[in-house]
Amino acid sequence: MRAGGRAFHGKQVFKWIHARGVTDPLAMTDLPVNVRESLGSLGLSGVAQITTMRRALDGTRKLLVSMRDGLTVETVLIPGVGQSPKGELPSPCYTEDADASAMPDDDEEEAETGKSVVRVTQCISTQVGCAMGCVFCASGVAGLKRNMDAGEIIAQVLLGRSMLDSDGAESEQLRNVVLMGMGEPLHNYANTARALRLLTHPDGIGLSSRRITVSTSGLIPEIARLGEDFGGNIGLAISLHAADDETRSRLMPINRKYPLDALMNALRAYPLPRRRRITIEYTLVAGKNDSLDEARKLAKLLRGLPVKINLIPMNPIEHSTLGPPDFSGVLAFQQLLVDAGYSCFIRRRRGDDVSAACGQLALLGAKPKIKSFLPPK
Ligand code: SAH
Ligand code: SF4
Repeated sequence: MRAGGRAFHGKQVFKWIHARGVTDPLAMTDLPVNVRESLGSLGLSGVAQITTMRRALDGTRKLLVSMRDGLTVETVLIPGVGQSPKGELPSPCYTEDADASAMPDDDEEEAETGKSVVRVTQCISTQVGCAMGCVFCASGVAGLKRNMDAGEIIAQVLLGRSMLDSDGAESEQLRNVVLMGMGEPLHNYANTARALRLLTHPDGIGLSSRRITVSTSGLIPEIARLGEDFGGNIGLAISLHAADDETRSRLMPINRKYPLDALMNALRAYPLPRRRRITIEYTLVAGKNDSLDEARKLAKLLRGLPVKINLIPMNPIEHSTLGPPDFSGVLAFQQLLVDAGYSCFIRRRRGDDVSAACGQLALLGAKPKIKSFLPPK
């Protein structure tokens, strides 16, 4: 280690930062003073910092995080996910709800603390902007600025953890992390995979991989890679948004490279553990993908797959006239899928009053740059 310490000092530093959230080397009291001082002069702290925090009426907190080069991303803390009545699952920036059947240890932990525990889901970003160009998405309209490195991805969790409420009768606890903020996690695979390993490292944040969900627009080779690298234990959410290729390609340019047939095969091949399901995200855009005919096609397309469906009425974004259907249309779409035998939830938007839709806060005022990632055929 360049700071002149021994190898095991590196492990201690890792624990200080990741397990305890301490980034000031001078406060790492089990390190020799000379190592603390030389680490301090190397500038250990400061991968990222919170520049703005907006708290919504429902307790959702949206943090704007600025990195060393001044670029900003957003991360959202959503309390109470998994504690709502069925059918009204809260949604962060379109987050995975906690799957109760997959979390047998929750009650034990609550009993141990003596305080009532509020579970928090954190939604994190993986890129500044996004190259995928989905037409309803603020990040897609802005285009990709750059990938985030694993340290920057993880820094969001460390910063988020430092903003959890712990005084009073309730104590917030980070329970789930979803990669559903700005960017396409699988388009930044190496850094995302490294961040997942750091997040689950037992000496660090120590999150169980089944409490982490990666959301993707459907990059087929990387879905297979994720399944192989993590044995299927990382939760998978697929942004589908249409059930026929023509409609999907119009909304999501990536569909021209990885059409629905191939995507469905990739989902069938994902080594999902028993009792887990893939989340299908379906943003409803008025007049584009919200007809009952499309719902019927969706029911047919997903037949036989272990899925649950989350319907998200589109959150309006700047520079676009697209918007959500009337709520009656959303309900009819849901009813058809429920009648077809699917678990299908309408996602309540969380933190609307703080621009909690993907990419909205970090990109407020940004000029649109419609430049999509269209890999060669
Ligand atoms: N790139 C990944 C993860 C980030 S986007 C992906 O596409 O899955 C997270 C989710 O938010 C996606 O399902 C996306 O389609 C949805 N989303 C983006 N902008 C939205 C908007 N304006 N209204 C509703 N959902 C939106
Ligand atoms: Fe990128 Fe996801 Fe937005 Fe599409 S929805 S542009 S893949 S962040």
